[in-house]
Amino acid sequence: MTDDFIWIDTKDGLEEVARILSKEVEFGVDTEQHSIRSFLGITALLQVSTRKQDFLIDTIALHDEMGVLRNVFANPFIRKVFHGADSDTLWLQRDFHIYVVNLFDTAKACEVLGKRPRSLAFLLEHYCGVITNKIYQLADWRLRPLPEEMLLYARTDAHYLLYIADCLQNELLQGGSVCQNSMYTVSMYGECVRRSNILCLQLYEKDSTPPESLAASLFTRYSGSLGFSLDTLEHKHRVEKILIALCKWRDSVARSSDESPRFVLSDRAMLAIAESNPSDVNSILQCVSGVSDVSSALDEAPYMTPLPSPSPVLLEHIDSLKNVLDQVNTWNVQGIIDTYSLKLSECVKDQNSMHLHQHTRTRKLRDYEAFRKKFVQKFSCKGPVYQNCRIYAGDGGLLCFCDRKKLDWYVQRGLAEFLDEDPPAIRLLFEPKRRPEDENNDFYLQSKTNRCVGCGETSHYLRYRVIPSCYRQYFPQHLKSHRSHDIVLLCVDCHEVAHRAAEKHKKQVAEEYGVPLFAKRVVDSGVLSGNGSEAQVVDVTVGGVSPRPLRTAAVALLRYGSDMPKERREELEAVVQAYYGGRAISHADIAAAALVGRGLKDSSRRQKKKGLGGDKVRQMIEVEYSENNLYQNDVEVVGGKEKYQKGEGDVQGPKEIVLSNGNLMLNGIESVKTVTEKCIRVQKSGVEESFDGEYAIEPNIGCFDDLDDMVLETVAATTSEDAEERQKPLDIIVDKDLVMSSGNGNLNDEIQLKNQEQELSSSSQVRKQRVSLLGHGPHGKKVVEMILEREGEDGINRFCRIWRSVFVDALQPTHLPAGWNILHSGYREFGKYSIYNPNRDQTSESNERILEHEGNGEVLAAGSNDDFLA
Ligand code: AMP
Ligand code: MN
Ligand code: ZN
Repeated sequence: MTDDFIWIDTKDGLEEVARILSKEVEFGVDTEQHSIRSFLGITALLQVSTRKQDFLIDTIALHDEMGVLRNVFANPFIRKVFHGADSDTLWLQRDFHIYVVNLFDTAKACEVLGKRPRSLAFLLEHYCGVITNKIYQLADWRLRPLPEEMLLYARTDAHYLLYIADCLQNELLQGGSVCQNSMYTVSMYGECVRRSNILCLQLYEKDSTPPESLAASLFTRYSGSLGFSLDTLEHKHRVEKILIALCKWRDSVARSSDESPRFVLSDRAMLAIAESNPSDVNSILQCVSGVSDVSSALDEAPYMTPLPSPSPVLLEHIDSLKNVLDQVNTWNVQGIIDTYSLKLSECVKDQNSMHLHQHTRTRKLRDYEAFRKKFVQKFSCKGPVYQNCRIYAGDGGLLCFCDRKKLDWYVQRGLAEFLDEDPPAIRLLFEPKRRPEDENNDFYLQSKTNRCVGCGETSHYLRYRVIPSCYRQYFPQHLKSHRSHDIVLLCVDCHEVAHRAAEKHKKQVAEEYGVPLFAKRVVDSGVLSGNGSEAQVVDVTVGGVSPRPLRTAAVALLRYGSDMPKERREELEAVVQAYYGGRAISHADIAAAALVGRGLKDSSRRQKKKGLGGDKVRQMIEVEYSENNLYQNDVEVVGGKEKYQKGEGDVQGPKEIVLSNGNLMLNGIESVKTVTEKCIRVQKSGVEESFDGEYAIEPNIGCFDDLDDMVLETVAATTSEDAEERQKPLDIIVDKDLVMSSGNGNLNDEIQLKNQEQELSSSSQVRKQRVSLLGHGPHGKKVVEMILEREGEDGINRFCRIWRSVFVDALQPTHLPAGWNILHSGYREFGKYSIYNPNRDQTSESNERILEHEGNGEVLAAGSNDDFLA
């Protein structure tokens, strides 16, 4: 070997090497690794030797350029000679995406030839008379400039490979056949090539051995040898538990700081800690310093990577290590490890290394799963939605499917008689106004299956409004019927898909009609500070602040503003300020912002209660809506104890908006500082179908944003519109005789009557607040008005058809009930006394009464198919 070698640390140099190699028929290769100050390990040097030259390629300097060599390594006409390529091929893939094609592995040749020993050192000595010192194998190959001895060692590893390969190839060719069975004879040479190239087919994968497995193997490997007094079973168990906890902790710390686990804490140190179970930081450090990682022989080897004990990483994370031990000793290993990895993710956030992101991603996925489970539990319907009880007409014609309560109601009042108990069915004793046949659609004559119409999932489902509530609520009453057609059941996943598509389409609608989804409120400075509702709105611009983050920010400020770190407070204030067009904001402004986008109807109802004339209030609000795009409200809270009224100086905000400081730990990280907004469930009563419980919402939780929107939409859909529907003024009160004789009986009317009775009897019951429709109410109202103005009711039908198409296109549902149709028409007639009937008797006193009544008894649409009866 001459003194000449070529050190390559520039891109030009590397390209030159690639050019030279591309003209060769073979070259020898070896790599050197560094694996202590890196979690995955890194290729520090690549040695390539032709018959004439030795190249030492600085793969640290050229890490990003190494792709230049991909072609020559993948070229099947150029043979690559390695010794023991098992790991080298993987390392080249891991670091440079270099894949080796056409490999001759001299170790495999020895294997086929039955040579022993098979080490390169032996081959060098045997074929080349060269003695090498493998002491540098484990040296720190990141060193630059590399010391003479290491340069020599590195060159030697590749320089002789082609010559050794020549020798071994000759022996293989002379050796004849190796593998014989009845069918095939394989030459020794062929067998060597085959075995070599199997190595090329390996694919690099990150090690995914769980820390627990490592703990188990350490425990068995060392428990005998280190003189632990594992005399009692309890002691043994504790050592094992600590070891598992330590392995998990070390794995997390190593990943997050991109160090090898052994650099963080050596196996021996872990065993020492597990054995002595130190209770304070000093004792831990004593344990650790008492043991060394490697055997003393290698300790003295030159150019080793320093392995300080305790390592700086350990010192940095020593408190968390102590926590781990504390927790193990309280038999709560899992808890602290999970908490710790959450904390760790905070440091991980700031780093750029790919595997760290991977780590965060896995954790997020895990969190997502947990979140989703929780979500499904919370928001899916608690029981079957469709009870598929049947109502028949007197002549035996099937009228509809509905829930059980409805059957009982008719029967109890002598309006129907039971036909069957199982499955339950009744026959009406009066002639209903219309028959389902009138619909020319058998949709209403289908029993409905309790499953996701998107994918057929039956384990859980929630109601989904195909036509978003923010529009539908402003449809003319008679077009609002037939909800059962446009409320379908979806699983959480399908719900998300549908919701996302709907939100996207809403934006299109917003553009098409020039009506922004949210309005920005720009107010003269100072005007608002006294009384929010009298503010003069100067300008309304497109864009604006979405109500949810606005409310979240405002409520957080109201509650914890004074305790917050300054930066966080300023961040939140900026959100609220943006809503007010950037002007300075007062406490009252923040309080007002906390209520933006909350339901309008509730306000008008309550004001009515307070004695204001309903019409006047409505007018006021209409004005607010149309001119100011102001959709804020006072909020009444469950239980009625806490009320927030504008201008009353109470800035506490509604109690139902609860701040949570990360208790849910869904995202674990920073964002958990956000507000938990509890939406409030609708009171259950009468024949109203049971409602799906209470809603807790975690807004602004990073990766869950979409789902979060979905929650809101779900809540909005499940509360507001239902609430809305329930609040519809009642049709005329009918009694049994009237129903029987007039033939104008309206099942819903009757049910509402019943509910009214209930309502009156429990008038002291407190009404509950519902959330708004994602704050899109004003947008929806304006759009519907424009449609009606331009196209009349046909426009509404067209609009509905588009929404159904959006739904179908997004979800490609496979389980829609028969008769479900994009072209479905929502038309219905009204009885003589119906409040929906524009020609109804306006002077009726009972009507007045009903108008005041806050009906809450309508059967949820998705629970019955009897819209047509109304
Ligand atoms: P070599 O080709 O024998 O010089 O080894 C290539 C690389 O593999 C070295 O730079 C080491 O990083 C790594 N390596 C080799 N043998 C060992 C070993 N026994 N333990 C840890 N790493 C090793
Ligand atoms: Mn080597
Ligand atoms: Zn589904």
